[in-house]
Amino acid sequence: MTQAAARAERLTSVASVVARDLKPLVRQIDAEGFYPKEVLRRLGETGAFAHHTGGDAAAGGLRAAVEAMAEVGATCLSTAFCMWCQDALVWYLDRSENPLPRQRLLDAVASGRQLGGTGLSNPMKAFAAIEPIALKGRPVPGGYRVTGRLPFVSNLDDGHFFASIFALEGAEDHRVMSLFHAGQDGVKLARNAHFIALEGTGTFTILIRDAFVPDDDVLSEDAARFVPRIRKGFVLLQAGMGLGIANGSAGLMRSDGAGRKQSALLPLGPDQIEARAAVLAERISDQARNIEEPDRGSFLDVLRTRLDISWLALEAAQSAMLQFGARGYIIGSEAARRLREAQFVAIVTPSVKHILTELAVSDR
Ligand SMILES: Cc1cc2nc3c(=O)[nH]c(=O)nc-3n(C[C@H](O)[C@H](O)[C@H](O)COP(=O)(O)OP(=O)(O)OC[C@H]3O[C@@H](n4cnc5c(N)ncnc54)[C@H](O)[C@@H]3O)c2cc1C
Repeated sequence: MTQAAARAERLTSVASVVARDLKPLVRQIDAEGFYPKEVLRRLGETGAFAHHTGGDAAAGGLRAAVEAMAEVGATCLSTAFCMWCQDALVWYLDRSENPLPRQRLLDAVASGRQLGGTGLSNPMKAFAAIEPIALKGRPVPGGYRVTGRLPFVSNLDDGHFFASIFALEGAEDHRVMSLFHAGQDGVKLARNAHFIALEGTGTFTILIRDAFVPDDDVLSEDAARFVPRIRKGFVLLQAGMGLGIANGSAGLMRSDGAGRKQSALLPLGPDQIEARAAVLAERISDQARNIEEPDRGSFLDVLRTRLDISWLALEAAQSAMLQFGARGYIIGSEAARRLREAQFVAIVTPSVKHILTELAVSDR
């Protein structure tokens, strides 16, 4: 079987998991904050988290990962976001400068047997000089002791782990990227907030107090060198969320025949949404081809694509809402859920305001 045929087969399996396992849970995920752990495991079994490993990212693997996420995101953004968390963790492990975490964990994470997340919002903002770094560490025999607080990390539950970055006390520019285990000594998960959407994403505040990080869990001793190698994948993989919302909103509008006729004059209909999504998907393929290049110029191009995806997600969900009118304004309506979910695409790091800040700095 060719690689393209294998990818198409995996995508069909993702669609089956969506139809059989995810669709019946969507309301519970949105309204009750149900975390769809078993669905994620089944998605892992289809190979959805493994496309972008082993040097395949540039040769279509990253695009395939985005397509799998978009297939899920067309139905449920909470699950698509958990997929991104998992995909990002896979991405870091695959590229880890220390081979030990990769040897120990990559297979289990890429197949969905082991679930986990990524606490890189704060470090990404810290690298962009938007906020101070939240975690501080000091070297001790065999590793580091780390303390600090991350406001939100998702796709977590007992036994899951996540990656983040801490600065060395007294040498703030020296930053280390490592794994943390949910529930290990000194790593406490607290549920401090409830969200207007994405409640079913296993999202917790992380309180880290003198937690031991062994050298074996370090991904890079020099995060300033490592982050430029992973940041384009981190951002481009998120495209699956925005494209999923866009295509899901287009499908929702089309499925509502009478409403569609009354909304024919809306500036953005399903055909235009899908056409814009297709153009963006091609940009993702193009930009994935040089995913290995750590330069700032190509990173800014990736941020521009990510920004356009946020605008499309927002506009598409808004258009669906305009078509559904009062029917969409009732609690529990799908159009309202898509609108709330689309706003997440635009505020999760790198948020629209973060991207605009980075682009403005580059223009100076
Ligand atoms: C449901 C949910 C799940 C999440 N899951 C995760 C996760 O898994 N992992 C993770 O790491 N994060 C996660 N986050 C965090 C998310 O990615 C964002 O970082 C978070 O929402 C805050 O981002 P913000 O842009 O609103 O920053 P803000 O909270 O608005 O800003 C943070 C600080 O930066 C300053 N600031 C912001 N923008 C600028 C600017 N342009 N110029 C100068 N200063 C600025 C602000 O004044 C503030 O001090 C999650 C958030 C939510 C709501």
